[in-house]
Amino acid sequence: MKPNKYKNRFFDLNVLQWTVPLFLAVTAFVFEFVEHGHEDGLSFDLAFTGETIIFGLMGPLIIGFIIAWMRQLFNAEKEAMAEVHVLNRELEAKVIERTAALEQRNNELDKANRELLKLDEMKSEFVSLVSHELRAPLTSLNGGLEVALQAENLSPSSRHTLEAMMDESARLTQFVQTILDISRLDAGRLTLNLGAVAVAPILYRSVEVVIGTSRNIKWNLPSEIPPVWADEIYYEQIIRNLLRNADKYSPAEKQIEINVRINDENISVEVADHGAGIAPEMQEKIFERFQRGQSGESAPPGWGLGLYFARKLTDAQNGTLLLSSPAWHKPAAPGSVFTITMPIAADSPEEIDNV
Ligand code: ADP
Repeated sequence: MKPNKYKNRFFDLNVLQWTVPLFLAVTAFVFEFVEHGHEDGLSFDLAFTGETIIFGLMGPLIIGFIIAWMRQLFNAEKEAMAEVHVLNRELEAKVIERTAALEQRNNELDKANRELLKLDEMKSEFVSLVSHELRAPLTSLNGGLEVALQAENLSPSSRHTLEAMMDESARLTQFVQTILDISRLDAGRLTLNLGAVAVAPILYRSVEVVIGTSRNIKWNLPSEIPPVWADEIYYEQIIRNLLRNADKYSPAEKQIEINVRINDENISVEVADHGAGIAPEMQEKIFERFQRGQSGESAPPGWGLGLYFARKLTDAQNGTLLLSSPAWHKPAAPGSVFTITMPIAADSPEEIDNV
């Protein structure tokens, strides 16, 4: 529609450029003839000549120039609009082309994502199957080793070997169990039995099992601690994991501190050590799957799964697991504090299936 509008205007001005000055010139001449005409004829005096030149010639010429100038302006505007129109068309075409390309890319990404999810599911199923299959022989192995260790006539070296095998077998069993639990948790199939859990007995039991009497433990527990709302087994597993790490990653002669704080709606258990601490750039990474601070022969034994599982389990129980390091202003032993915070127990027991 727009080009027509400009075309009409252009056409009108083109005609007006000639007709208006002509009309004005004729009118001015006629007027001057009438004004200066006498009964005895026309006198070509200075007034007639001057007025005729001004009104019949220069006036129309100026008006003609103005209309020509306006016509040029409209002409330029018309060309600019036509250019904008072409640019708009090109832009629209480009947008359509890019949108189609993006849509295609999106579809490809969507397809790749679905394939990856399927592969991940297959991998989880495979890991879960293998772990499941490993559990039964490991249970028999542990039982057999326990029976063998009860024999009285064992030489010290055989006892030592059997004990080492027992430790390794227990570690492997724990690993297989963790893998199974992680794949269940990832698949949303881990069942949590939430209920009121007494904190202090879990802390004492975990220290006894994980650390024993080999190390100085500094306790800072309020005299009465309300129960937390958690899954007892998994809550204890997280606490044990934090204690095991504090023991593993700090020198044996340094004490480990256990602090319990009661806040308005939750209870925090802090496990603090005087080890080398954790570098800022590693502090979030160590909560990821298979992430370890050290690797290679010299690294303490581990799989890099403990904190990953601990945080996932804590989140699933509506708690938080946080790290603060350095914990002390001592360059030689900056240490770390892991804090697990859980809600104070509600009234009735509850079961969470799909975490
Ligand atoms: P693992 O101990 O099997 O490596 P974790 O997931 O429990 O796996 O820990 C991941 C990493 O976090 C460890 O390899 C270690 O580098 C670091 N880490 C964990 N706890 C501590 C700690 N108390 N002090 C220093 N580093 C720690």
